[in-house]
Amino acid sequence: MAQYAGNCRFLWNKALAINLFKLENKQKLCYYQEFDFFSKLWKKSEEYGFLALSPVQTIQQTLKQLERAFKDAFDKNQPLKRMPTFKKKSGNNSFSFPQGFKIDNNGKRVFLPEIGWVNFRKSQAVLGNAKNVTVSQKGKHWFVSIQVEQEREEPKHPSNTIIGGDLGVKRLLTLSSGSFFKPINTEKQTTKIKRLQKQFARKVKFSANWKKFKAKIITQHTKVANIRHDRLYKISTQLSKSHAIIVLEDLKIKNMTKSSKGDSEQHGKMVKQKSGLNRVILNQGWGMFKALLKYKQVWRGGKVIFVDPKYTSQTCPCCQHKSKDNRLTQSDFVCVECGYQNNADHVGALNILARGHRVLACGEIGISQLSEAGTCIVSDHNKPMVLN
Ligand SMILES: [Zn+2]
Repeated sequence: MAQYAGNCRFLWNKALAINLFKLENKQKLCYYQEFDFFSKLWKKSEEYGFLALSPVQTIQQTLKQLERAFKDAFDKNQPLKRMPTFKKKSGNNSFSFPQGFKIDNNGKRVFLPEIGWVNFRKSQAVLGNAKNVTVSQKGKHWFVSIQVEQEREEPKHPSNTIIGGDLGVKRLLTLSSGSFFKPINTEKQTTKIKRLQKQFARKVKFSANWKKFKAKIITQHTKVANIRHDRLYKISTQLSKSHAIIVLEDLKIKNMTKSSKGDSEQHGKMVKQKSGLNRVILNQGWGMFKALLKYKQVWRGGKVIFVDPKYTSQTCPCCQHKSKDNRLTQSDFVCVECGYQNNADHVGALNILARGHRVLACGEIGISQLSEAGTCIVSDHNKPMVLN
């Protein structure tokens, strides 16, 4: 399985590199047909002959997934999609079978082409028509995901409430109701990783001890990822169950985290501070949270609205006075005009909610139309703009 997953990673990276080169040189991208042809040549070559060891389906499936990733990246209807990225050896490597597999629901085992019957621990019942299976490795464990197709009625969200949320560093998420979620704490694991890495650096490369420590570090990293995912999963489920519409800021996470790298002129304290903040942002997994929330709302018949983040932290929710001076400290908001006082993150959430209401109220954009429009952004000047 490691060989199959490794081959898929290799192929993905190779095909991706070709396309990125083409993009850079303003040439036409290669899609599935071309890459399928190339892969057949590679299999016959001496250099890449190891690809022939993989089941044909897994090779084809990887190339189809890459094609999908490129098409999504250029799809204007999916503003949150980004360019596909290279797969790391240490990442979640996987391979998929679109057919030829069998699922024995009662026996808790799955038949994989060229591998045979494999037992697994079933986390949930497999209902509906199985469309494909993906086998992936996380840390030292192997997982199998089964994608199914079901007929479903158009869902109607059980609640009719709307809530605003402000994602932050000190508090993971503050709601317009005033409640908030504490940040994710992985301090224990992070300290452990640092200690292990120091010891790891002193080991002889590729020795038994070196391998042992490497495995230990990977285990801790997997733990951190699991804690983060678990927490974000629970919070998004809770929110999605209770509110039909959730309003969040349209933060470009990638832009926020990119700017402190590279730039040689900017080295110094600011950069250091910024990269510290970036690490926290990434650590909190805002991008993952939004993705989880979005799909859960679609599933339940609710919505997530993204609004313009400009001045949400500086505007008074009471008198609308907008000033930097309203924020004397990071955590407190005191309006210099009317004296309104509140926690700064709560103020942010209230302003975000107000903008969400504006999106819903503005002109003809009713809730039914929003469902078609998908992401909707309202600018600071009251001019709604539907991205589609
Ligand atoms: Zn005020």
